[in-house]
Amino acid sequence: MVIILRSNLSRLEIEGLVSEIEHLGVNARITEGTGQTIIGLVGDTTKIDRNKWQANPLVERVMIIQEPFKRANRRFKAEDTIIDVCGKKIGGKALTLIAGPCSVETEEQIVAIAREVKKLGATALRGGAFKPRTSPYSFQGLELEGLKFLKIARQETGLPIVTEIMSTDMIDTFADDVDIIQVGARNMQNFDLLKQLGKINKPILLKRGLAATIEEWIMSAEYIMAGGNDNVILCERGIRTVENYTRNTLDISAVPVVKKLSHLPIILDPSHAAGLNWMVDPLSKAAIAVGADGLIIEVHNNPAQALCDGQQSITPAEFGELIDKLRVIAPVVGREI
Ligand code: PEP
Ligand code: MN
Repeated sequence: MVIILRSNLSRLEIEGLVSEIEHLGVNARITEGTGQTIIGLVGDTTKIDRNKWQANPLVERVMIIQEPFKRANRRFKAEDTIIDVCGKKIGGKALTLIAGPCSVETEEQIVAIAREVKKLGATALRGGAFKPRTSPYSFQGLELEGLKFLKIARQETGLPIVTEIMSTDMIDTFADDVDIIQVGARNMQNFDLLKQLGKINKPILLKRGLAATIEEWIMSAEYIMAGGNDNVILCERGIRTVENYTRNTLDISAVPVVKKLSHLPIILDPSHAAGLNWMVDPLSKAAIAVGADGLIIEVHNNPAQALCDGQQSITPAEFGELIDKLRVIAPVVGREI
């Protein structure tokens, strides 16, 4: 339920309403938009008498939210959420361009790629240290050593670092060391992990599950937000369909759907969606044209020798050419690079 307040109420009047609501055992969250203050009610709202609140002279309107997600709901907060990462904004006019290898392999590799993508326009560096691999015999990542190398790359370039968390055991370390914590597709419904991530304040990049509906995916964001962490960035990375030419099917329509349903930023991952390096260029262009807030792209300085996902990795030179094309598309859809 959402209570839209009349304009120009005093702080004291708003706080009075909030305490009255919380007295009923329901959580009240204030959102101050341009010219409108909204109180979002989360919890067991069956105790709230809608008619009584509608009759309150301080209240403009009471709205019932049908969707199961509340905090992530666009009706709960009309304005787009803009997330600050080391002074850079995600979800604002400027596009977020995250680039880097699937996995951190050596210090030299991650530092060299970081330098190149930074020069070409990347706004953050990706690199997996803890890798969720389908086979237990595949490279599992450098783990803590990988994290150390990522921190060196950040120090060398100033780029914020994005890396995947796989276990709740690592939350304290990630909260200290990582700028954007990635929850991978395979962990989208690891509710214990999501709940713990709700208790910290770091931005979370939440990938869509392999076969998750948009509603299930936003409900996972809701898990994080219910704990008090509103810094969630959604990431569409392709879903399983009957099509097997590509690794997954990029659900481009997820962008307008998410923008309609939620105020959270959404970025696209063309690399894991297609699984093919030559498709990263057209899918990235489509992503920006359709209104995505940015991209996360696998870039490797030697894709043929990559320890993970080389087939879908582009080179820094190809990344540079792509960014040049995106610089042309971005202003057409009101964005900038
Ligand atoms: C990754 O980003 O390297 C990754 C494993 O992604 P996903 O969880 O989308 O498969
Ligand atoms: Mn990968």
